[in-house]
Amino acid sequence: MAESNFIDYVKIYCRSGRGGRGSTHMHRAKYIPKGGPDGGNGGRGGHIILRGNRNYWTLLHLRYDRHIQAEHGGNGSKNKSTGHQGADRYIEVPCGTVVYNAETGEYICDVTEHGQEVVLLRGGRGGLGNFNFSTPTNQAPRYAQPGEPMQELIVILELKLLADVGLVGFPNAGKSTLVNALSSAKPKIGDYPFTTLEPSLGIVPYRDGRSFVIADIPGIIEGASEGRGLGLRFLRHIERNSILLFMVSADTEDIRKEYDTLLNELAQYNPELLDKRRILAITKCDLIGHDTELISMLSEGLPTDIPTIFISAVSGHHIQELKDLLWTEMNNESNKIAAINSTDSILRQPKDFSRLTYIYEDDEDDKGWDDEDIEYMDEEDIEDLDEDDFEYVDTPDTK
Ligand code: GDP
Ligand code: MG
Repeated sequence: MAESNFIDYVKIYCRSGRGGRGSTHMHRAKYIPKGGPDGGNGGRGGHIILRGNRNYWTLLHLRYDRHIQAEHGGNGSKNKSTGHQGADRYIEVPCGTVVYNAETGEYICDVTEHGQEVVLLRGGRGGLGNFNFSTPTNQAPRYAQPGEPMQELIVILELKLLADVGLVGFPNAGKSTLVNALSSAKPKIGDYPFTTLEPSLGIVPYRDGRSFVIADIPGIIEGASEGRGLGLRFLRHIERNSILLFMVSADTEDIRKEYDTLLNELAQYNPELLDKRRILAITKCDLIGHDTELISMLSEGLPTDIPTIFISAVSGHHIQELKDLLWTEMNNESNKIAAINSTDSILRQPKDFSRLTYIYEDDEDDKGWDDEDIEYMDEEDIEDLDEDDFEYVDTPDTK
């Protein structure tokens, strides 16, 4: 069995950076024996951030990098100097990646667009240095805050190919040939595990440097709706396709009947697929010699409710027209599937991994830290803190 290059599922361990400790430094200078507290704040730990990247088509690159850790924040130091901010770690993912909590199975977010960023784990905030705590009655506090701890999470990343056009047709309808004829770039995709089937994706260049993605997803019809083979795994890639291009060969005995059969197969798998816009392409027109009479005869029995086009990937007949048709249908506002609201994708942090607080509490309208948020502790107590002292609270809704 060939090792697969088409990776659409990975499990990775992520860890954000812990916040740096605040410093308890006291200022000393030759002529200022009691210069007061000047311990700086700790720096924030690095976030773990997912970022959509249209140059990736699989999750293969993550397969060999399964522990992703952001840098810790630096500790504060004298002269009120703030510790350095831990570097954030970006996880580049293909558009169409869905993220789940591996332990609970809970859905976390979708990354659908190029450049979209989702903070998966926040780095701990740095602790405040002692200079923050000086008050008229205590001008030399010898305590500071520790930084917030890091957060850990094991996530499952799953790829749903976000093809704009999904091809639906029986074997030999000419799907692969069309993908090859239309596309300029073919993402590298190897054999799918346990099968010789191979999803074929193509990037179709359109006018003005724009492009769209077409996907020939094998197995969609070959018994997939009955759960045979691995067709179902592929089918989830097509669920979000905005258009379905049905393909029936011109030399098929009963084109209408074959179209209806395809439709029926889809309905059995998932009736919602029938809500998608459909286009019917009669392929291999060169076989009937582009005979206009024959074509109009064939056209008669065809469904009238969807656009139909006669094409040949071999002779190039109506290939540009097909692109135009696909593009127009794809961009037809009234038909557009509701765009995924990007703010919906902002991580709802699972409770178990929510922010930890220990020496401060967030008040309701968390506008930063103020005295009331802070519970004073002695320096030794701070040193003695361990994980058990932390209290779990819900993440405040801050940006
Ligand atoms: P798929 O199974 O739907 O992916 O079909 P393929 O693209 O593999 O094509 C099946 C067969 O039809 C191959 O032998 C192709 O060479 C042939 N074919 C595909 N498109 C055309 C076409 O436009 N004209 C002709 N004459 N043959 C075609
Ligand atoms: Mg094929």
